[in-house]
Amino acid sequence: MDEVTTTPLAIPFTQQFAADLPELALPWQAAETPDPQLLLLNDALAAELDLDPEALRGLDGVGLLAGTTVPPSASPVAQAYSGHQFGGYSPRLGDGRALLIGELTDRDGQLRDLHLKGSGPTPFSRGGDGFAAVGPMLREHVISEAMHALGIPTTRALGVVATGRPVRRETVLPGAVLARVASSHLRVGTFQYAASTGDLELVRRLADHAIERHHPEAASSEHPYRALLDAVAAAQAELVARWMLVGFVHGVMNTDNMTISGETIDYGPCAFMETYDPATVYSSIDTGGRYAYGNQPLVAQWNLARFAETLLPLLDDDSDRAVSMAEESLGVFRTTYSDTYAAGLAAKLGLPADDAAHALGEELLTLLHASHVDWTTGFRALGAAARGDAEPLRGLFLDLPGIDDWLSRWRALDPDPALLDRTNPVYVPRNHLVEEALDAATAGDLDPVQRLLEVVLHPFDERPGLERYATPAPQDFGRYITYCGT
Ligand code: AMP
Ligand code: MG
Repeated sequence: MDEVTTTPLAIPFTQQFAADLPELALPWQAAETPDPQLLLLNDALAAELDLDPEALRGLDGVGLLAGTTVPPSASPVAQAYSGHQFGGYSPRLGDGRALLIGELTDRDGQLRDLHLKGSGPTPFSRGGDGFAAVGPMLREHVISEAMHALGIPTTRALGVVATGRPVRRETVLPGAVLARVASSHLRVGTFQYAASTGDLELVRRLADHAIERHHPEAASSEHPYRALLDAVAAAQAELVARWMLVGFVHGVMNTDNMTISGETIDYGPCAFMETYDPATVYSSIDTGGRYAYGNQPLVAQWNLARFAETLLPLLDDDSDRAVSMAEESLGVFRTTYSDTYAAGLAAKLGLPADDAAHALGEELLTLLHASHVDWTTGFRALGAAARGDAEPLRGLFLDLPGIDDWLSRWRALDPDPALLDRTNPVYVPRNHLVEEALDAATAGDLDPVQRLLEVVLHPFDERPGLERYATPAPQDFGRYITYCGT
């Protein structure tokens, strides 16, 4: 392996994960980068982390983002985890092309992981090359930052560095590393890995680490592990409800891609739904529709059950009692999901969350589906309709009597136009625009990616001149297909 240089970068990394859980942390280092070039840097996130953006743009800074420059306080590790992939269990996944550099304490005093994706092969690489291409890493940067701007918990993107290394996919593509920031990289799959070792004390240490980092209130509960399970159930239920409300399709909700923190992670084959249809699937490998838009709440619950299984021995010595506690936590998921979704859907109608809003929301979904309406455009048009101009909304529907009847009952409830405008985004990273921008970037032109990023960072502020960013894909874009592991 190539030597990494040490640097005077005075960044105070900690190694809490590696210190608490050495069994899950394999010391490793990044591959060299023949010609590192910084493609994107997130100045605002750097500031949150107390990192100097100018220093990150320098030689050592770019080296830090690519993994080749390791500050004295850092000691990178590849993390071990397992996972159910499309329902089938893989006992050993882990960071096959990623490294945890260490944790930073942000300006709010919270611990945040700096993690690199595409940093080279590790002992977890299995058949993979350990690398990533420029297009998919820019894609994760743009979509994760768009999600953050939409108010959805997510891992963040600090920057993307092109490595100068060609990577072989269907064609040869330019390689890149994404520097990702998360409140941790603990996954359901991390617990599955720990449980599979048969070492209950390891599971207990992992659960204690998760409580300390994500759900500290659980520590003072009468039953901390049950409180952890409930807190994770609630966090994941809220997350998936928020995905549903913006039309986000994650695409690969394997248990290794579900975090304990409740942050969205791993933007592989994800996409924003355009025409509303619960059966929407984009991923090339999801032929059965397991991770279709409308299945996401059920899948999250299935994944949560896998998490609960790993905690059973910590819940109660009596296995029947442990199982019934776990079942109650699944109940927490269901009620949190329906409450969050109902409140969110009411807000999307500009209404307080009550039975009338709930009924109108369900009816609108039926109308949107029947008329093949674009999810984002359809909801956004409600703002103008509440202000008296219903024509943009009516123009989206085939069933005019249906939408007119709905509109008259909705207007009678006096929807709040300001609430509508701050709840229904005008700009999401639309699939055709993302593809166009990534194609340009792969060919060396970063302008379209930068412009798209600027647009989606302010999703609720409608701005003149940006109409094409608020318009669904043209017919000739065809059916959109996304690919995993790219
Ligand atoms: P993902 O689908 O990105 O969540 O990845 C699932 C698993 O495959 C993880 O263990 C990854 O580390 C691994 N993986 C994905 N792509 C690669 C690659 N190019 N080289 C090595 N491992 C990979
Ligand atoms: Mg993953």
